[in-house]
Amino acid sequence: MKSNVYECVIIGGGAAGMFCASKLAKSFYHGKKIMIIESGPRVGRKLALTGSGRCNLSNSDIDPAKYNTDDPDKLAACLERYGETDTCDFFENILGVVLEQKGSLIYPSTYKSSTVVDALRFYLADNNVETALKERVKSVTESNHIFEIKTESNKKFLAKNIVIATGGITYPSTGANGDAAGILEDLVDDSYFVPFKPALTSLTSDISGIKGLAGIRCRGEVKIIDHKGEVKAKSEGEILFTKEGGISGICVMDVSDVVVRMLDNGEEDIKAVLNLTGKSAGEIFQMIYIRRQMYAHRTCADALSGMLLRGITDFVMKKMGLKCDKMTLRELNDQQIAELSNLLCAFPVPVKGYGDVDKAQVSSGGFKLLRLDDSMQVKDLPGLYIIGESVNVNGICGGYNLQWAWTSAALAAEGISRNV
Ligand SMILES: Cc1cc2nc3c(=O)[nH]c(=O)nc-3n(C[C@H](O)[C@H](O)[C@H](O)COP(=O)(O)OP(=O)(O)OC[C@H]3O[C@@H](n4cnc5c(N)ncnc54)[C@H](O)[C@@H]3O)c2cc1C
Repeated sequence: MKSNVYECVIIGGGAAGMFCASKLAKSFYHGKKIMIIESGPRVGRKLALTGSGRCNLSNSDIDPAKYNTDDPDKLAACLERYGETDTCDFFENILGVVLEQKGSLIYPSTYKSSTVVDALRFYLADNNVETALKERVKSVTESNHIFEIKTESNKKFLAKNIVIATGGITYPSTGANGDAAGILEDLVDDSYFVPFKPALTSLTSDISGIKGLAGIRCRGEVKIIDHKGEVKAKSEGEILFTKEGGISGICVMDVSDVVVRMLDNGEEDIKAVLNLTGKSAGEIFQMIYIRRQMYAHRTCADALSGMLLRGITDFVMKKMGLKCDKMTLRELNDQQIAELSNLLCAFPVPVKGYGDVDKAQVSSGGFKLLRLDDSMQVKDLPGLYIIGESVNVNGICGGYNLQWAWTSAALAAEGISRNV
C-alpha cells in the first residue's frame, strides 16, 4: 500500500523552496514522495520580480562580511560549502540555464527571471515533485517523528521531514507574510526568532525641497552618521531621490538595514551624509574654479550643467541661500565655491523613516542561524529545516540574497538526504 507520509514537505514555493525540492528530487532523493505547499496560485512569484525582472541570481564575489546574521561564522561556513560556483554549476548543467556575468553580477543570459522560474518549475514537474497551490499552511505539529501540517482550508499532510521556506515579510503581494513563527508556534519557542523588519529599502527625510529632486539619480556615496557623529555604515553607488521625499538606490538600500535598526531602537538625529558627485571636495573645487574662468558670464545652473545635474545644483545652492539660475559664476566667490564643493560632497540629509514592507526588497530577522545545524536543521528538533529568507540572514544588493536562498536550500537537501 502506498504510504500517505511524504518523505519531505516543503512549505513555500519560492526561490529557496523550489531549489531545495530540485536538489532533493534528483541529486539525493530519486523516487521519494516530495511535496511543495504554496499559498499562492503559482510558484516563484517573488523570484519573477528579482533584478527588475532580470534575476540577478548570484555574484562571483560573494563575501560573508556583506551579510547581517546572528551567526557570522556559520554563515561563512555555509557559503564555503555551497557557494556561487556550485550554484552556477547546478543552474547550467542540471537546470539548463545559460548564465552570463556583468561585472560580478550573475544573470541568466536571457536577462529574464521567467527563464529561472520556468527552469525550476519544469525540473520539479519532470521529477514528480507534487505541488499543492493556493494552500496556506497555518500550523505544524509533531508526534513520533512525523510532522502533521494543516492548511487554512483544513487539508492535512504528513511528513518525515519538513522545510520551512515561507520567506520574510517584504512584497506581501507575492505571498510572503512572515508566517514562519506562527506556523511553528507549537514546536519552537518565540525566542528562536528575531522579529522581521524591512531591509534593502528607501530612507525618508523631511528636509525641505527634497521632493523636488524626485527621479534624479547620481553616482556617489552615502554615510550613515549617528547623533555622536560616528559613521555606522557607508556604501558607494547609485543614489536615487524618491517621490516620497527621500533617498533610495543600491547604495542607500545597502545601508538601510542599519538605519532601520537605529530608528526602531529610538535613536534620533540620524543623518545620511551624501556625496552627490562621486569625487572629492578638492576635485570639485578645482572643477568649479576652472569653470569660473571659462564661463564666468553664465548662470551657475548653466555653467555647471556639464558636470552636475541641474536639480542638484539648484537644491544645494538653495541650502546656501543662493539662486543658481539668477547668479552668474563670476559672482560666486572662492569661499562660496569651497562651501558648495563641501556640500556637494557631504550633504547632510536628516533621516526620519524608512520604506515599509511594500518597498523593501528583503527582510532582516527570522529564525536564528545559531539555532540551526550545518544542514539548516533545527538543532533540538530533528526533521525540521528552515531555509531562505525565513532564516535570520540578509545580504546587500547584487545577488547576495538569492545566493543565500540557494545555499541554505542545497544544504538542507543534503542534510535531509543523509537521513533517508
Ligand atoms: C523587487 C525585488 C527584487 C529583488 N531582486 C533580487 C535580486 O536581483 N537578487 C537577489 O539576490 N535577491 C533579490 N531579491 C530578494 C529575493 O527575492 C529573496 O531573497 C528571495 O526571493 C527569498 O527566497 P525565499 O524562497 O526564501 O522566499 P520567497 O521567494 O518570498 O518565497 C516564499 C514563498 O512561500 C510562500 N508562503 C508564505 N507563507 C506561506 C504559508 N503559510 N503557506 C504556504 N506558502 C507560504 C509564499 O507565497 C512564497 O511563494 C529581490 C526581492 C524583491 C522583492
